[in-house]
Amino acid sequence: MNELQTDKPAEEKKAAEIQAALEILKKYFGYDRFREGQELLVGSILSGKDTLGIMPTGAGKSICYQLPALMMPGITLVISPLISLMKDQVESLNQAGLHAAYLNSSLTPGQYAAALRYARAGRYPIIYVAPERLLNEEFLDFACGTRISMVAVDEAHCVSQWGQDFRPSYLKIVEFIERLPDRPVVSAFTATATAQVRDDIVDLLRLREPTVLTTGFNRKNLYFGVMTPKDRYGAVRNYLETHPGESGIIYCLTRRQVEEVCSNLIRDGFSATRYHAGLEDEERRRNQEDFVYDRTLVMVATNAFGMGIDKSNVRFVLHYGMPKNLESYYQEAGRAGRDGGPAECILYYSSQDVVTNQMFIDHNRDNQELDELTRAIVREQDQERLRKMTFYCFTSDCLRDYILRYFGEYGENYCGNCSNCLTRFETVDVTEIAKALLGCVQSCRQRYGTTVILDTVHGAKTAKMRQYRMDGNPYYGSLAKVPVYRLRQVLNHLQLQGYLWVTEGEYAVVKLTEKSREILQEGASVSMKWAKEAEKNAKSGGQDGKMAKRRQRPAGGAELSEKEETLFERLRALRTEIAREEGLPPYMVFSDKTLIHMCLLKPATREEMLRVNGVGEYKYGKYGERFLRCVAGK
Ligand code: ADP
Ligand code: ZN
Repeated sequence: MNELQTDKPAEEKKAAEIQAALEILKKYFGYDRFREGQELLVGSILSGKDTLGIMPTGAGKSICYQLPALMMPGITLVISPLISLMKDQVESLNQAGLHAAYLNSSLTPGQYAAALRYARAGRYPIIYVAPERLLNEEFLDFACGTRISMVAVDEAHCVSQWGQDFRPSYLKIVEFIERLPDRPVVSAFTATATAQVRDDIVDLLRLREPTVLTTGFNRKNLYFGVMTPKDRYGAVRNYLETHPGESGIIYCLTRRQVEEVCSNLIRDGFSATRYHAGLEDEERRRNQEDFVYDRTLVMVATNAFGMGIDKSNVRFVLHYGMPKNLESYYQEAGRAGRDGGPAECILYYSSQDVVTNQMFIDHNRDNQELDELTRAIVREQDQERLRKMTFYCFTSDCLRDYILRYFGEYGENYCGNCSNCLTRFETVDVTEIAKALLGCVQSCRQRYGTTVILDTVHGAKTAKMRQYRMDGNPYYGSLAKVPVYRLRQVLNHLQLQGYLWVTEGEYAVVKLTEKSREILQEGASVSMKWAKEAEKNAKSGGQDGKMAKRRQRPAGGAELSEKEETLFERLRALRTEIAREEGLPPYMVFSDKTLIHMCLLKPATREEMLRVNGVGEYKYGKYGERFLRCVAGK
């Protein structure tokens, strides 16, 4: 028998492995098929190759190492940067009826010793461990005395100084692996796609001829929007009013902003809580839990919140202010719609955001341990990233396309599911405005920032105008009839097209470029796309035109009939009840998407229930009958 097996052609062996993996996928996780990239990554690991998977948040990375871990002999160690992340993953696995454990500083010495004892006895095929633990003597002793078949590195970009979340302890992973008696398969996963980070992961983790797979970064179920409302809080409140019952995150740039927005929302009667690094651990933990357990609908937070939040039914991520780069933006926005249902990501931009981010860059303390040269390079990169982020807020092209191009992919120019694709634009000749703006910059000898230039051509009557003597400038008031926001759009367009540039630093000054003369002297004309007036008003007046028109949708986003929506609410209530009984977040019982699938299929038997996406045998055993009864209306 054995001989026969080893003689089997590799292809056949592979097919059998994939078949076995699919069976586990169905049995424990309740899913019928692999998502994009999963089969290849699972297959690669099972064939014993080092593997690097680069997939966007929510694509399903965990399953890529969990399935092989369950199939390989011995133990898989998963290295993960955050305690909350490990806890969540281990709970999910336990929920699916699988044995897993974590080893980190949240355990008491007694619990730690017990976990190690069970681990030695071979109870856990999967063990999550913090990178700081790896070289700890007791842990090393355990690892060297048992069979480690795979080391899976989650959030692998943490190993790179070029990533956004560099963690020096990740550099210890290699040393740990080298101290093991047999080198295990090493797999690594991240959502960060830049070539530099990818190369760093391969080099620093010393992956051996790895399979590297980058799946598409496009998240089709996410709607992207940018708005520039005059009253930012009003716009956010309006959004929440038109999305009752939905769970979502509002990201703010500073702690102060979090406090302000959160207390205003509570004052206005919304179910909101807050999270930032300035709160006591205990409060942070409690607030996070309230959100994860659906006790509070809206989380207002700084970027300290989110890594390790697997909550799958986040229906919107609003940005109350522009983040420092597109990596952060896409990661934060990507926490919406992990269950694959429609979700919305809207950025509310204000020009002050650039100044705030510039300050973060100027006073960045994270990089103090770097030498001067490296620090200068990092700074320059941060600057460039901020610039690209800012352009995102001003482009009139497809937003999704803009993001995908940033990550090195080609989009389709028109996605039909972003605020730019859904806004009607007209192409306008702005040569006269451009001439006045550039002329003004030239006439004041390139000494002033954007506000002074705009105020001058618009003819603002401010003390600053008089103080700088700009009220006597030949361009003063020459474009008094054009609204300031239009002037600003043209100025941004000129910057985007390289007709002028704005210096960096606290006192940003507008300068001319080589290209400026094309307009000033050579008679070139400039045209740009801008939103038609009526829609522009809807867009900036705090009213998201698209949302206001749309029918209220159920929490999962699918189109359900009225009857099905009632059923959905009943199933959701049952889920909440079970979650309370078991002390689990509701989405760990079943995801929104699973409940919706249940509404559509209306299963009446065990077999039918097992056909629902997300219902595996183990979960069926625990909850299946109660849900069957609920569907039957009993
Ligand atoms: P990532 O780590 O890439 O952000 P996760 O591993 O947390 O993503 O997976 C996101 C969600 O997708 C989870 O709820 C997971 O159960 C679900 N998922 C993963 N693989 C599949 C699949 N093959 N079919 C359906 N859902 C899946
Ligand atoms: Zn689009």
